[in-house]
Amino acid sequence: GAAGKPAESTPAEPAPAYTAITLAANIGNPSDLALVRRFQAQGVGLYRTEFLFMGTALPTEAEQAAAYTGVISACAPQLTVIRTLDIGGDKRAPALALPAEKNPFLGVRALRLCFNRPELFAAQLRAIWRASAAGPAAVMFPMIATLEELRQAKQYLETAREAVVSQGYPVGSLQVGMMIEVPAAVWLAAKLASEVDFFSIGTNDLIQYAVAVDRENSAVAHLYQAYHPAVLGMIAQVVRAGRAAGIWTGICGEAGGDPVLAPFFAGLGIDELSMSPGLLPEMRQALAGLDQDKIAGEGFVEKILACATAAEVTDLLTGYTK
Ligand code: PEP
Ligand code: MG
Repeated sequence: GAAGKPAESTPAEPAPAYTAITLAANIGNPSDLALVRRFQAQGVGLYRTEFLFMGTALPTEAEQAAAYTGVISACAPQLTVIRTLDIGGDKRAPALALPAEKNPFLGVRALRLCFNRPELFAAQLRAIWRASAAGPAAVMFPMIATLEELRQAKQYLETAREAVVSQGYPVGSLQVGMMIEVPAAVWLAAKLASEVDFFSIGTNDLIQYAVAVDRENSAVAHLYQAYHPAVLGMIAQVVRAGRAAGIWTGICGEAGGDPVLAPFFAGLGIDELSMSPGLLPEMRQALAGLDQDKIAGEGFVEKILACATAAEVTDLLTGYTK
């Protein structure tokens, strides 16, 4: 566990390195909590709040506070990571009546929309603070490409805290993290790391922006490669920048639930993998079966990072099970 991560129960024996990876769940709405329990997730690594905003009416601050409180208290004492609104691109919100854009994935999406609609963003952040006393919680900002965006988002967060405190609500402490899902943020990871408590890599978007492939377009799906050496290289760069700064790093994109990548994640020493709850058993099994000595001894991560093609990566990824 790196700095800032909530303590888990201390095992009697020193555990092999792979068990240090927290296996958390991605959820979209509070009803997913049944799956979190059923698959024994160690908390929620990504709570996609935009699902609250996809109906015909927008949720009030109180409705949001109730929803976030429900998730945080259900997951306590484990951590709930609440992602702020990521509308735009593939996620629409009819009630916001947003103008059509020619390139929505490159347009007014996520924080960009939140900065254009400050009341919307402020209300969500106040709701998160109102829920923060219910248990261990974190707030996470999506789609950040610049340091200024991170600082601006944190400023909104601080203003929201002051408002909630002045209204007399009890507030807890919130970890503050950001998603790494824009290639520019990978380049800046060392700088960004000194201003957050954690990174969570959003491979769904990171891949699409790295290889210029629409994540929803089946005509180019063969080029949407999680095993592209550039993608794995970016993941490694982020994990290493996070570790150097003493913060923890997780993955919450689909690649984080791919058991074929388990030896790569274990070799890198990633702190958390967060995935659809149904994928947890297979990942748990893949990690438990890894030959950690072989991974370390053969310089496995460096071999992966030296690959020229996804096909070479695929060949290397097998053969590290005990
Ligand atoms: C991602 O981009 O990998 C991610 C987890 O966010 P979303 O899929 O909601 O865009
Ligand atoms: Mg994303």
